[in-house]
Amino acid sequence: MSQSLATVAYLGAAILFILSLGGLSNPETSRRGNLFGMVGMALAVLATVFGPRVSTGGIAWIVAALVIGGGVGLFAARIVKMTQMPELVALMHSLVGLAACLVGFASYVDTSVQFQGAEKVIHEVEIYVGILIGAVTFSGSLIAFGKLNGKIGGKPLLLPARHWLNLVALLVVIWFGREFIRAETVADGMLPLTVMTVVALLFGIHMVMAIGGADMPVVVSMLNSYSGWAAAATGFMLSNDLLIVTGALVGSSGAILSYIMCNAMNRNFISVIAGGFGSGGGAPAKKGENGEQAEPQGEVAPVTAADTAEMLREAKSVIIVPGYGMAVAQAQHTVNEIVKTLRDRGVDVRFAIHPVAGRMPGHMNVLLAEAKVPYDIVMEMDEINEDFPEADVAMVIGANDIVNPAAQDDPSSPIAGMPVLEVWKAKHSIVMKRSMASGYAGVDNPLFYKENNRMLFGDAKKMLDEVLSALKG
Ligand code: NDP
Repeated sequence: MSQSLATVAYLGAAILFILSLGGLSNPETSRRGNLFGMVGMALAVLATVFGPRVSTGGIAWIVAALVIGGGVGLFAARIVKMTQMPELVALMHSLVGLAACLVGFASYVDTSVQFQGAEKVIHEVEIYVGILIGAVTFSGSLIAFGKLNGKIGGKPLLLPARHWLNLVALLVVIWFGREFIRAETVADGMLPLTVMTVVALLFGIHMVMAIGGADMPVVVSMLNSYSGWAAAATGFMLSNDLLIVTGALVGSSGAILSYIMCNAMNRNFISVIAGGFGSGGGAPAKKGENGEQAEPQGEVAPVTAADTAEMLREAKSVIIVPGYGMAVAQAQHTVNEIVKTLRDRGVDVRFAIHPVAGRMPGHMNVLLAEAKVPYDIVMEMDEINEDFPEADVAMVIGANDIVNPAAQDDPSSPIAGMPVLEVWKAKHSIVMKRSMASGYAGVDNPLFYKENNRMLFGDAKKMLDEVLSALKG
């Protein structure tokens, strides 16, 4: 493939990636967005493999790597459960970081291209920054993976003087950066480069270890952004324009998503980017490494599936709030059946989606779309929060933190200030969960003890099946 054809293919791929991001911002166009992304990536890979910079002898190696990598990816995508998706994403980010580090070291030891003067300095800065971001992304993402799948406790690790430690790490990185640029030979530059890599790896571990469980979504999205910048840095090292554009798209969209999530969880974006956060409001309070839960603080009124069906049947307006438990129980199809039955009876049914419901952004939207719930009744928090007082029944399915009134009423609560769905303002609320256990943030939920609230205990799928048959019977 000639250089100009490869450039045109890269341009086409970049446009498809932008269209893909545009499509993914709305559930109705997300399938098309995904398709654009897949076609763009196929085009980018083909243009790179068959482009002018790969020798004929190299193609066999690349194809072998593609088959192995693609096989592992396909296998992982098939076995991973939807609720494990954030872990998989964190693991993928770590691979982007690792790739940036490896490409950085390879570019440095590769003497086939000789840079002189300013060009040499620029190339070395690209290598240094690329490895720095890559190493932070790599180790930070591995810790995030461990925290998300429970292998590492959710409790934040707060070392004494941790901000000073971070500052010292920054100064060490700047100092060795200067030494690296001043090094005359590759052998001389290797020591500062290696020291910086070790410091960056430790910084990545320290940064994510210091973050409490309830702040993890922001971390995953922030690492997503970092992985984009690591890819962009790799693009600079390899003089690959498409990698620069793609990395910048991932980096900036990840940063925007982090910002939106910070707002949704009442976290400060600047302190997130600086890495020193999670010890204050966001840290889980009573659920520690040993998994101990917050103690229930009052009496609750249980309800049966038959009575729930009765309340729904008599309601004019129902708002459903899905959460992590709906994903665990895979109850979305039954939920859709119930919605259809109620709407056929003339009940106004809508969904209220909190931006961090479940375990990743958009988690609930994906599940509801899979169950073919009509998009026009799925509302974002800001669109529907004011409507709860008019709702006859608010039905909470496996959600907890996102409907916790303590976020508004109790300034000492670990989730104080987090915007929440105001289900307690509905005429009646029903919370569906298996026990009195707390949610992700490990805090008790005063909603459960409100006079107008009823608890429907049991697995969400099982209970909803019973509600559905009672509704139909
Ligand atoms: P929560 O984790 O607060 O609560 C989920 C509830 O579901 C639990 O209390 C649990 O109670 C119940 N549950 C679990 N399994 C079942 C089941 N099979 N049937 C019925 N109920 C079940 O989830 P929310 O969605 O309310 O809030 C999301 C939380 O996750 C927030 O704290 C958010 O910060 C955090 N988070 C969000 C991410 C995101 O990007 N969306 C990523 C990472 C974390 P019980 O055990 O009694 O059944």
